[in-house]
Amino acid sequence: MKKVRQLKRVSVPTLKKKVETAPVYDNRWRKVSREYRDRHTYCVKCWEKGVLTTEATSVLHVDHIIPVKDRPDLQYDESNFMCLCINCHTEKTLAENPQCLGGQKESRWFFDPPASGSRKG
Ligand SMILES: [Zn+2]
Repeated sequence: MKKVRQLKRVSVPTLKKKVETAPVYDNRWRKVSREYRDRHTYCVKCWEKGVLTTEATSVLHVDHIIPVKDRPDLQYDESNFMCLCINCHTEKTLAENPQCLGGQKESRWFFDPPASGSRKG
């Protein structure tokens, strides 16, 4: 009889975690975002840095200022939109979802120092 060794379920950092903030890109979204990009033709993040990035030099995305996962009701609300180039959009997404970087999160020792060699004076 063959013995199948069962693997224990252990918690390992998930590297390929999906971005949970991804809104539903349906027809309505395509229409709304295209109309928005017609009127907002440059990346606002680049603009803050004094760089003009338009659709002529990059791909522009309409980004949600407040992630859709936090405010799904604002998915189609222009007050929650900003135009970002693909670079800035990726940067922002990774900043909001550090798990997508491959689990290279900062050590928590800043808040929770290891109790090594603690002695009372
Ligand atoms: Zn940009």
